[in-house]
Amino acid sequence: MRNKTSAKCGVRSADWRGITPVLIVILCLIAALPVIAAPAGKPVVSISPKKPGPGDIAVVTVKGASGPVEGTFLKKHLHFNESKGAYKAIVGIDLNTEPGSYPLVMNLGGKSVSRDVKIWKKRFPLQRLTLREDQVTLSPENEARAEREQKRVAALWPVDSLRMWEGKFIDPLPGHEIGTPFGVRRIINNIPKNSHSGVDLTADEGEPVKAPNDGVVVFVDEQFFSGNSVILDHGQGIYTMFFHLSKIHVRPGQAVMKGDVIAEVGSTGRSTGAHLHWGARVQGAKVDPLQLMKLKVE
Ligand SMILES: [Zn+2]
Repeated sequence: MRNKTSAKCGVRSADWRGITPVLIVILCLIAALPVIAAPAGKPVVSISPKKPGPGDIAVVTVKGASGPVEGTFLKKHLHFNESKGAYKAIVGIDLNTEPGSYPLVMNLGGKSVSRDVKIWKKRFPLQRLTLREDQVTLSPENEARAEREQKRVAALWPVDSLRMWEGKFIDPLPGHEIGTPFGVRRIINNIPKNSHSGVDLTADEGEPVKAPNDGVVVFVDEQFFSGNSVILDHGQGIYTMFFHLSKIHVRPGQAVMKGDVIAEVGSTGRSTGAHLHWGARVQGAKVDPLQLMKLKVE
């Protein structure tokens, strides 16, 4: 079959030479259009959820920034991940954050921008527990032990390693009921104690506990309060922790993949029965681990 393409073109080859410089100018103008249409220096910053509160995991999104994006919020460095032209950072709002306004300070392509973000008041339920007296009033030895253990764990949070987590966080114990939710204010043997900084998932002894995302095991220990414990570092300051385990199948320094079985449910440490206490920290902030599974950050 004859190719009729050239015959359809109304411009003879000699004419193209004269048109070429004009075409180049037009093409250059078309290429420059998006830049002209979106004026530089007008990036849009948003935060979700719209009403962030203590214990929430918030996401700061920057769209339309031309250049590197950096920022701090609640005295923490924001780790921005770029995808499809949007920069997103995961921010932990500690359970004990006082409601009020806090500055979100950002550097958007060399331009300093600051705005106040309101942290809203949140109501958490009250729970009364009765435990054996020796589990509440500690002996001096146990008191010293618990304090030592707490310091060891707290020493993990200042480390923000490189991102290891990918995509959505999954449920470490799928399909289980919540026994004690996150944030519950506790009164143990009539004495007010720290709020519940994780979520208790009801399960039977020996049920497999899975890594909610890729990461590395940074802590394995048998502790006074939390019993057999595992802590995973997922990078960018995101840690997940698993307490009261009966068996632990990982060792410190081991890399884990999302879905790997890391341990088994138990009732070790200060526990009233078999369950999984699942906790999460974002740059040290105590946050609701269930919110990790709802994050939309690529
Ligand atoms: Zn718990």
